[in-house]
Amino acid sequence: MRAFTYTAAPARVVFGPDAVQRLGDELEKVPATRALVISTPGQQALGESVAARLGSRACGVLATARMHVPVAAAKAAREAVKAHDADALVPVGGGSTIGLAKAVALTTGLPILAVPTTYSGSEMTTIYGLTDRDGKTTGRDARVLPRVVIYDPLLTLDLPVRVSAVSALNAIAHAVEGLYAKDGNPVVDLLAEEAIRTLAGALRRIVRAPRDVDARGDALYGAWLCGLVLGSVGMALHHKLCHVLGGTWDLPHAETHAVVLPHVAAFNAVAVPDAMARVARALGRPTAAGGLHDLVAELDVPTSLAAIGMPENGLDRAAALATANPYWNPRTVDVAGVRALLGDAWSGRRPD
Ligand code: NAD
Repeated sequence: MRAFTYTAAPARVVFGPDAVQRLGDELEKVPATRALVISTPGQQALGESVAARLGSRACGVLATARMHVPVAAAKAAREAVKAHDADALVPVGGGSTIGLAKAVALTTGLPILAVPTTYSGSEMTTIYGLTDRDGKTTGRDARVLPRVVIYDPLLTLDLPVRVSAVSALNAIAHAVEGLYAKDGNPVVDLLAEEAIRTLAGALRRIVRAPRDVDARGDALYGAWLCGLVLGSVGMALHHKLCHVLGGTWDLPHAETHAVVLPHVAAFNAVAVPDAMARVARALGRPTAAGGLHDLVAELDVPTSLAAIGMPENGLDRAAALATANPYWNPRTVDVAGVRALLGDAWSGRRPD
């Protein structure tokens, strides 16, 4: 028998085509009467249309969200909230937009009603991040967890195929590591396996038909489950490696996850065969590592660190950094093992 602790995140989820129409009712239930809609500059038109739909319940649109939530952007957003006398935050967008709303909620305690339009899963976690000159600081705080999440696949139809693929592979990484998390539990295992199966299947359809509403709905459902996993349990070697590679060599965040994941799966397979069997089963392939590699290749996402700008002469340093202060991992992490893993990831060799 397996002993475990499971804490459910207390968010309300409204899911379906045109679910965004329900935002006004959801604000009324909070209750909130002056919502500030937040977006990136690129999604300002969507932010404006959501605000227009809310009518007098919206007090403005703040289209200043940017990657990694710069401290200055968070400060400006808090000032905007004060100036507008807002009583709720409605981020409409991906992890960057939700991240800005979280930074505001952290200091103001305002409720967030999130409308995610990517597969990042940030809307399901208490994790926030802020970036300044010294790098990114992350933390966990219950105040940043959205009160309501509205998943509307119609808002994701124009998410470019490449962004969809890397964002979803990033989400799948959360589910894979959730299956062998130190604080894992049977509920998270169910969520994670279903998440990988649904998201992988949806992605294959989205690549062929990006505006297929059913496929987009399945992808959003899978992304929600991945977000639940990330919000419930701790991550391991894969996330440590991506943090080191992204932070030190400025590699693209989601692509780095896509390249590294199959190799971490191969590395950890001897220690957690049952977890890897679940990943393989979800992908419909004989092995987790090979199946993940094939999925990345099928989606036309780079499969090697070399292809996304990692210098080969940085691999020794990356192995040293990743093992100096390692996250918990089911297989013991040592420099030689991680260096070999990184060598394979750099060349893009298909793991078994
Ligand atoms: P993103 O939010 O940066 O969005 C990428 C780009 O896609 C943006 O320009 C955005 O305007 C555009 N976009 C978003 N949705 C669109 C749509 N439906 N149609 C067309 N364009 C659209 O990217 P992301 O991958 O969602 O988020 C990445 C960020 O989220 C990273 O900073 C990451 O660290 C963070 N994150 C945080 C958590 C957490 O729990 N705190 C979890 C996962 C990711």
